[in-house]
Amino acid sequence: MNMKYELVIGLETHVELSTNSKIFCSCGGHSSPKEANDCVCPACSGMPGMLPVMNKRVVELAVTAGLMLNCEISRYTTFDKKNYYYPDLPCAYQITQLNHPICKNGCVTLKTSQGTRDIRIKQIHMEEDAGKLVHGGNSSFVDFNRTSVPLIEIVTQPDFRSAEEVLAYLNKLKSMFISGGISECEEGAMRCDVNISVRPEGSEEFGVRTEIKNMSSFESIERAIHYEAQRHMDALEFETEELVQETRRFDDTTGKTFAMRNKETEADYRYFPDANLMPIIIDDEWLEAIKSAKPEAIDEKTEMYLEAGISEKEIEMLMSNYNIGKLLDDTVALGCNLKDTATWVLTDCAGILRKDGKTFSDLTITPEKLAAIIKMVDEGKVNRSIGRKILIAVVEDGVDPVEYCKAQGFDQKVDASTIETVMDKVISDNPQAIEDFKNGKVKAKQALFGACMKQLKGVADPSVIKELLDKKLESI
Ligand code: ADP
Ligand code: MG
Ligand code: ZN
Repeated sequence: MNMKYELVIGLETHVELSTNSKIFCSCGGHSSPKEANDCVCPACSGMPGMLPVMNKRVVELAVTAGLMLNCEISRYTTFDKKNYYYPDLPCAYQITQLNHPICKNGCVTLKTSQGTRDIRIKQIHMEEDAGKLVHGGNSSFVDFNRTSVPLIEIVTQPDFRSAEEVLAYLNKLKSMFISGGISECEEGAMRCDVNISVRPEGSEEFGVRTEIKNMSSFESIERAIHYEAQRHMDALEFETEELVQETRRFDDTTGKTFAMRNKETEADYRYFPDANLMPIIIDDEWLEAIKSAKPEAIDEKTEMYLEAGISEKEIEMLMSNYNIGKLLDDTVALGCNLKDTATWVLTDCAGILRKDGKTFSDLTITPEKLAAIIKMVDEGKVNRSIGRKILIAVVEDGVDPVEYCKAQGFDQKVDASTIETVMDKVISDNPQAIEDFKNGKVKAKQALFGACMKQLKGVADPSVIKELLDKKLESI
């Protein structure tokens, strides 16, 4: 950024909520559809005469998000129709909130290389998503699976002064929403409109702003901001072009933004109250219930993880994937130790997935199964390396850990005298290896160890076997 100019950015961020069903009908939510148009009903495909019915869970998640962002929660909130015509919008209006949004006047604190900064949240409102157009060959298709998937839109004041702050904010929202169960924030579930202007350093007035629409990759957002800021500065400094308030798109291939249309104003949308939906009243009792169900704030959670001895890097992993964070929390809720469980999840589960060429999103193990394995190890029923073997079978084949352990004979206690008997036999069966060992071949000891492990079917603790073997060999 040229020292003579200051960058001013405000964000409108759309986040898909993780509800089981859509916002105004009982079709499955964002994660349900497998094939195009398989989560569609007369209501969300805009058939005449169908009426919306509000999904209560959407209100609760929107309020939870508002509480996390230190907002005032509206006790009276209403829906409006935003009218426009486009093939992905079957009703030709979107149900959203204009006049009485659910949350207002929040604030989020960011840590960046410039120190800490407060970004004011103007409002959060609830709305429905539109469908998706799919273009192929000479045809275009419309997929209504996404119509009426619940969204919250979080609007900030124009308080960002750098791309770095914008990224810090988006990363914070993402961790917050994932760990709070608001949204899984997977690819495309968090989409931003970035409003940018530039003004001379020290000026109080805002410059002309442009809005870059619908970006979901954080990397593209950063590139788009740098490009657009430079374009504005060039326009002011060298009068290369006249800046107009407009909507633009970012092209990932060229790294440039281009004009899409002149910015619509509110009047273009002919907003009016949606008479099909009753106002929602959030009374004290309901608000208290939502507050008490709210998960710990991300800062508190980070503190708790750090105290348990989990590293910052591991915390970042836990907070950036919904499956993992939830698996950890739910397993701990079943009575397992936090730090131990974090190792099982981040080291053991992750290792198995990596070996199979999978990611955390493919992890299907339930907290109950993981807790069962951890308990077997804690109670000394099996040693840790057997625990890991059981985990592999659970992760890869979905077996029941307790049954699997029994079926494999892992839970048979092997006492020291059994180990000794086996070892004596191994030694007497392998005179050559003993001879080699005496002649200084280290490999020979490895072979004897392997033979013992094989006889004991991997049930005895390897460290016990090793210790006993060392003793035996010493005395030979
Ligand atoms: P509109 O109703 O036209 O969308 P809003 O007042 O809701 O306008 O603002 C939309 C977004 O644009 C907000 O996030 C706001 O912070 C941001 N914004 C407003 N003015 C500017 C500006 N001059 N420069 C950068 N961002 C701005
Ligand atoms: Mg707006
Ligand atoms: Zn539906």
